[in-house]
Amino acid sequence: MNYDTLGQVVEPLLTWFGKKRRALPWRVDTDPYHVWVSEIMLQQTRIEAVIPYYERFLQVLPDVASLADCEEEKLLKLWEGLGYYSRVRNMKKAALVVMEEYQGEFPDTYEKLVKLPGIGTYTAGAIASISFGRRAAAVDGNVLRVITRLLADSHNIMDEKYRKEVKSKLEAIYPVGEEAAMLTEGLMELGEVVCLPSGMPQCEVCPLEDLCQARKKNTMLDYPVKQVEKKVKEEKQTLFYILDEKGRLALLKRPETGLLAGMWELVSAPGHLNKKEVEKYLQHLGLSVISMEAMSSYKHVFSHIIWQNQTYLVRCHNLRKKYIPSTKTSEGREIIYWVTKEQLQHEIALPTAFKKCMAEGAKRGK
Ligand code: SF4
Repeated sequence: MNYDTLGQVVEPLLTWFGKKRRALPWRVDTDPYHVWVSEIMLQQTRIEAVIPYYERFLQVLPDVASLADCEEEKLLKLWEGLGYYSRVRNMKKAALVVMEEYQGEFPDTYEKLVKLPGIGTYTAGAIASISFGRRAAAVDGNVLRVITRLLADSHNIMDEKYRKEVKSKLEAIYPVGEEAAMLTEGLMELGEVVCLPSGMPQCEVCPLEDLCQARKKNTMLDYPVKQVEKKVKEEKQTLFYILDEKGRLALLKRPETGLLAGMWELVSAPGHLNKKEVEKYLQHLGLSVISMEAMSSYKHVFSHIIWQNQTYLVRCHNLRKKYIPSTKTSEGREIIYWVTKEQLQHEIALPTAFKKCMAEGAKRGK
């Protein structure tokens, strides 16, 4: 691939970004903590959705020291709705490293940043260039879309080797200082608002129009080429919205590793159970059923797994204790916790995968 065109991109892109940049809360300054929080939140989530989360997060945890000190439940609650909770757990781990190894000051090179927990090549590139003016590119889907269209390049953008090549070719043309920050943000911005991911790119307002090979050939929508090899596994399960006589909800904690590691979850059983099977299963957990009603079925899609959920509202007897320490599931793992509506609202973060069952259970279980 001939990357010569890349060198001509910097000037028009910086001029364009200087005029058109959107005012976003994380662009008020280039503080590495602010850049870091915003970049982690923006992975998999739209800008408009991130803004209120970002503002609330910084209000509660204004700096890396407060994040390092934050209790996990509080942290997960702040993150509730953004999903992929391992991201915020890793942020806390990284904050502890910054406090302990770097005396609370973010390391200022790409090489050191990329070694922090949860900080990959993209985020390290973003912080190094935006906050410290380093020659470090942040290559994500937006940037790859712009580059592959610009060069009419049909490499598979899911290929790690290709991504590394783009990063190194970009870094060869990177300026330093404030312009490094502007180039990183300008590329991201162009991919977000002009060289759009779905629908037609807005080439007529693009600062790179004269340089763009795909535009010349009118083949913009042929790029980027994305071949994903992904096996999606389907899992059937039955979810229970179980209330005790005081209206408290039964919850479990998931194992510390694997999908939704360490998160709260509803009681569940593998497979789709009928009412008789439900009663037997819950008896086995030490719960005595007063009544049950079937609720809706729905699916929840993770990146590699699809949950096919069947759901029930169940009311149970004799559950006055705060928790039942001896109760085990068939895998012999969990204690059942009984949580009040107030705890659910203010303290407990439940993954989005349970949201539909929670909403229907709360409505029917009044
Ligand atoms: S000219 Fe069109 S396709 Fe090329 S980079 Fe600009 S917006 Fe994307």
